[in-house]
Amino acid sequence: MDYPGNIFVVAAPSGAGKSSLVKALMELDSAVQPSVSHTTRPPRGQEKHGREYFFASPSEFDAMVESDGFVEWAHVHEQRYGTSKKAIEERVAQGADVILEIDFQGAIQIRKTFANAVLIFILPPSWEELRSRLERRGEDSAEIIELRLRNAALEMARSNEFDFVIINELFERALFDLKAIVHAQRLRYSAQRRARADTFAALNIP
Ligand code: 5GP
Repeated sequence: MDYPGNIFVVAAPSGAGKSSLVKALMELDSAVQPSVSHTTRPPRGQEKHGREYFFASPSEFDAMVESDGFVEWAHVHEQRYGTSKKAIEERVAQGADVILEIDFQGAIQIRKTFANAVLIFILPPSWEELRSRLERRGEDSAEIIELRLRNAALEMARSNEFDFVIINELFERALFDLKAIVHAQRLRYSAQRRARADTFAALNIP
């Protein structure tokens, strides 16, 4: 279906800098709204229900799966995460741009429901840099880092399934690239035709 709003889906191997880029984009562009996922994992730190995630019990999550409430859901790091279909549809139908920061499997699934979703993959500049970012983050044991690197190899091998790729070498450059993708979507003929209907009418464009 053709909605007035855009759906941007951003995926990346862990450590590629996806969250910081999406956060910076939303700070600069208030017309891009985050999609708040449901998860069975417990809240961390200052996270708030309804802001970072809707925190759900396993049975609440099951109920949403059974009622077909998710566009996609996936097991990530032994927890379940899902994107609510209704929340996305309502917002893009009203003309909002929604950004989803989800894992690789989820990103591929989104397109099955929303054919016009824009899939963006963030790559690190090199293996050395990805490894050193994961090490510097200090969140994971050596074993987990190896696991993340193995997963990264599998995902990066399939990054050609995405529409756009950003190489996050310099943060500011990568942010510029992300803004450019969002801007280009808003300049698509159908989007301009809708957003600037008065101008089209004044120019007698049918
Ligand atoms: P975290 O628990 O660190 O917030 O997120 C773990 C991973 O789950 C990240 O890769 C994040 O992008 C992914 N994730 C968050 N929400 C969703 C979702 O709704 N669906 C899928 N498939 N992955 C998600």
